[in-house]
Amino acid sequence: MNIEYLCTIKKITHMAILRFKALEEVLKRQPLSVQLPNVPVSDYFAMNVFDRPKMKKYLSKEAFESVVMAMDHGLKIDRKMADQVASGMKAWAIEKGASHYTHWFHPLTDSTAEKHDGFFETNFDGDKLEVFDGDKLVQQEPDASSFPSGGIRSTFEARGYTAWDPSSPAFMVGQTLCIPTIFVSYTGEALDYKAPLLNAVSVLDKAAAAVCQYFDKDITKVHSTLGWEQEYFLVDDALYNARPDLILAERTLMGHASAKNQQLEDHYFGAIPDRVVAFMQEFEIESFKLGIPLKTRHNEVAPNQFEVAPIFEEISLANDHNLLVMDVMRRVARKHNFRVLFHEKPFKGVNGSAKHNNWSMATNTGVNLLKPGKNPKSNMMFLTFLANVVKAVFDHADLLRASIVSAGNEHRLGANEAPPAIVSVFLGTHVSAMLDEIVTKVSNKPLTPDQKTELKLNIGKIPEILMDNTDRNRTSPFAFTGNRFEFRAVGASANSAAPMIALQTAVADQLLKFKAEVDELIEKDVKKDDAIFQVLRRIILDSKAIRFEGNGYSKEWAEEAERRGLTNIKEAQEALKAYISEKTLKLFEENGVMTERESHARYEVRLEKFKKQLQIESRVLGDLAINHIIPTAIQYQNLLINNVEGMMDIFEKAEAKSLAKTQIDTIKAISLHVKEIVEKCEEMRLARKDANELEDCEEASQAYARKVKPYLETIREHIDSLELIVDDELWPLPKYRELLFVR
Ligand code: ADP
Ligand code: MG
Repeated sequence: MNIEYLCTIKKITHMAILRFKALEEVLKRQPLSVQLPNVPVSDYFAMNVFDRPKMKKYLSKEAFESVVMAMDHGLKIDRKMADQVASGMKAWAIEKGASHYTHWFHPLTDSTAEKHDGFFETNFDGDKLEVFDGDKLVQQEPDASSFPSGGIRSTFEARGYTAWDPSSPAFMVGQTLCIPTIFVSYTGEALDYKAPLLNAVSVLDKAAAAVCQYFDKDITKVHSTLGWEQEYFLVDDALYNARPDLILAERTLMGHASAKNQQLEDHYFGAIPDRVVAFMQEFEIESFKLGIPLKTRHNEVAPNQFEVAPIFEEISLANDHNLLVMDVMRRVARKHNFRVLFHEKPFKGVNGSAKHNNWSMATNTGVNLLKPGKNPKSNMMFLTFLANVVKAVFDHADLLRASIVSAGNEHRLGANEAPPAIVSVFLGTHVSAMLDEIVTKVSNKPLTPDQKTELKLNIGKIPEILMDNTDRNRTSPFAFTGNRFEFRAVGASANSAAPMIALQTAVADQLLKFKAEVDELIEKDVKKDDAIFQVLRRIILDSKAIRFEGNGYSKEWAEEAERRGLTNIKEAQEALKAYISEKTLKLFEENGVMTERESHARYEVRLEKFKKQLQIESRVLGDLAINHIIPTAIQYQNLLINNVEGMMDIFEKAEAKSLAKTQIDTIKAISLHVKEIVEKCEEMRLARKDANELEDCEEASQAYARKVKPYLETIREHIDSLELIVDDELWPLPKYRELLFVR
C-alpha cells in the first residue's frame, strides 16, 4: 500500500498513517536471534544473585552465619555484621561491573520501585573510592512523598524509609545491585506489601507448626509455598504505539471483534510463533540468571496470550520473583519489538489474564501439609490442614474477594472465563466425601476402637484415591488440586502479596482457634485423637456452605450461593469494603499483621486507584471518540455525500436515490452514531465532573462506578459499529485482527 498516495486522495489522518506504517513494520518483522548460552541452565542459574554460596565466599564466617540466622530465623543483624555484609556484597557486585546500588521495594502501586545511587564517591582529600557500608545496606530514605500511602503519611511528613529484608537475596540487574527491602513510614507503619506479607508468613509459621506438634514432634517450622502462573498478552510495539488507549489505559477501549478470535480453540498449547519463542528464550535466560526457577511456557486460550510458570518457592521469595519476572519481561519485550500486557482484560470478547496462585504449606521435615501422606497419621494431619483452610476461606471469603479487586480484574470476574465474584472452594469428589465421612462417623462421644480403625483405614486410602483422581475444576476461584490450593481469581497485573497476606492470616487465625479448641478438650480429658476429630467435625460442618463442586460459571450456582448465604458482590468498590469491616480489621490487628490504620490505608489506596483508572479510561475514550473517531466518520460520510451528489448529476433524482440507497443509508447510520457518541461523551464528561467534585473517596468511586463507567460500554458500542461501516483505509486505530495475531 502506498501511504503517500492514500494521503493525497483520501486525506487520511496522522493516526491512520501511524496504523498503516505499523502494519508495514509488522510484516517485515523477523524473530530476533537470541544468544543462547549453550550450557545447561544449572551452569548460570542465579549467577546474578548474591545467594548463599556467594555469601559464603565473600563474607567472613561470622557475617555469613549472622545472615543465615536472619534468613532462616528472622534474627536481627547487628551494625558491625551489617558493615561486613555490605562490604562483601559490594565486592561481589563491583567484580560483576556494578556502578550503582538500589533499595528495591514494593510500594502500594502493584509494581516495584527503586532509586539508584552510585557507589562512587570523592572526598575533600581528592580520594576516589567506591563506598557502601552497613548503613546504606540496612536503611535508606527514598524521596517517598509521591508513593501512595492511603493517608498514613501526609505530604508534609513525607519521610519513609526502606529497610533490608535479608530473607530475600540481593541481585544484579544491569550495572545495579538491587537490595530487596521493606518500605515503612517514620511512625513505623508499613507503606508496602512486603512488610505485612513477612508478618503473615511468620504468623502462619507459628500457628501451623503448633498444630503440627499433635502429629509430629519434629516439625518446628512451617513455611508457605507459592507457585504463580502468570498470563500475559503480547502486542507488536508499532501497533501498540498506534493505540493511545493501550498506552494510557493499558486496555483497548474500542475495537470490533475480529472475525476469528478464540472460537476455534486453536491457540491453547498450540505451536508458539518464532518471534515469541525468541522473546521467551531471552527473558527466561535473564530470569534464570536472577535465580528464578521458570519451568513452563505455553500459549494460552486467547490469540496472542501466553503463560509462564516457575517451580514453586517460599511465598515471599516467590512473590519477589514474580514481580521481578514482570519487570524482566517488560524490558526484554521492548528489544523484541513487543509490548507485554499484564492488564486483566486488554481485549473485549477474548479471555483475560490471571495470575493463578498455587499455594501450600511445607514443614522443616520436608512434608507438604496439603499432600496426603503415606500413613493414617500423616493423612490426619493433611485433613486437619485442609479442613482448616476451608474454614478460613469460609470465614474470610469477603476479604479474599476484596484482596483481588481492581478495575482491570472487574472485567474478568463473573465473565464466563474466570471465577465468579462468589468465593467458593472446590475439593474434588473424594476429598469432599472424606470430610463428609468425618461428619457422619464422629460425634461428641469418643470413637470406639472399631470406629477409629475404620475411619483411619479410610483416611489412609486417600493417597491412592487421589493418585488417579483427575477431577479438576477450572471454574472454581479456590480449587484443591491434589497437593495445593489454586487461587485462580488473582489478576494478572496484581502484586500477589495482597491476596496472600489475606489468605495466610485467615489460615493462621483459624489454626490458632483450632488448636485452642482441641487443647481445651484435651484438658477435659478427651483423648487427643478424639479431640481433633470432634473439632474437625465441627469446622467441616460450619464451613460446608463454601464447598462447591459444580460449574462456578453457571447461573444456577449464583442462585444456589444466594440460598447458602454466600456473598456475591460484583462491584469492585463495594467488594473492597471488606478490607475495613470490623472482622477484617480485627483479624489483621490481633494477629499482628497490619494495624487498623494500615488496613485502612490499603483500602483507600486500592479504592483511589480503582477510581483513577476509570477516570483515565473515560478521558482517553472521550478524546479518541471526539477527536479521532468522529472526524474520521464524518470524512467518510462526506465521501459518500459526494458520491450521492455525483449520482444526482448523472441520473434522474428518483433513480439516483434508488441507486444510491446503500450510500444514503450509511450516511444516515453514521449520523446517528455520531450524534449518540457526541451526546454520550458530553454526558460522560458531566458525570465525571460531578464525581470529581466529591471529596469523599468512597462517594467518588461509587459515582465513577455507577455513573461514569456505564458510558464506556455504550460509547464503545457505537464506535465499534462505525468501525464496521467506515472505509478501512481511513480508520485511525489498529483493529483487533491486526493487534491479535502475531506474525
Ligand atoms: P496447571 O496449569 O495445571 O495448574 P502448572 O504446571 O502451569 O499447572 O502450574 C502449577 C504451579 O503450581 C507451578 O508453579 C508449580 O510449581 C506449583 N505448585 C506445585 N506444587 C506446589 C506446592 N506444593 N505449593 C505451591 N505451589 C505448587
Ligand atoms: Mg493452574
